[in-house]
Amino acid sequence: MEKILISACLLGDRVRYNGEIQLCQHPLLKRWQAEGRLVKVCPEVAGGLSVPRPAAEQQPGGRVITQQGVDVTAEFEAGATLAVKLAQQQGIRLALMKARSPSCGSGHVYDGAFQRRLIAGDGVTVSHLRRIGVQLFDETQLDALAAELLRCESGKDPSP
Ligand code: SF4
Repeated sequence: MEKILISACLLGDRVRYNGEIQLCQHPLLKRWQAEGRLVKVCPEVAGGLSVPRPAAEQQPGGRVITQQGVDVTAEFEAGATLAVKLAQQQGIRLALMKARSPSCGSGHVYDGAFQRRLIAGDGVTVSHLRRIGVQLFDETQLDALAAELLRCESGKDPSP
């Protein structure tokens, strides 16, 4: 069975930086969970950060800094390494990662100025996952993920 790596916060785990729960209740998620195909990870908690924790954003040079100026790049990288290891152990080709997060965001992330301005780019974990060939989706792309899942399970190669 094709497995899907998923950001733990989308399943309602209390792992977000602000300690709030943000469960994604889409029926597709419930079905995939019941089928046992979801493999959850919170890279920031896995990397040693606490809940709650200060908001952090990637800076133009690639470091990840909290709003108070603390460099948490090492923790973000450690979490990304663990997520990659988990993906490799589980033979993961597809991932559903929380949009706009400095770890899990795919395609768009905040620009580092803590002004809620988005720029093109990936979160730290997502950029590592992309490098090993995992296809990335966020919670606004569940139908596209479902289509890709079908393609993978029908034995065809995933789309480039
Ligand atoms: Fe969710 Fe990812 Fe942030 Fe963890 S690091 S709270 S899984 S978005």
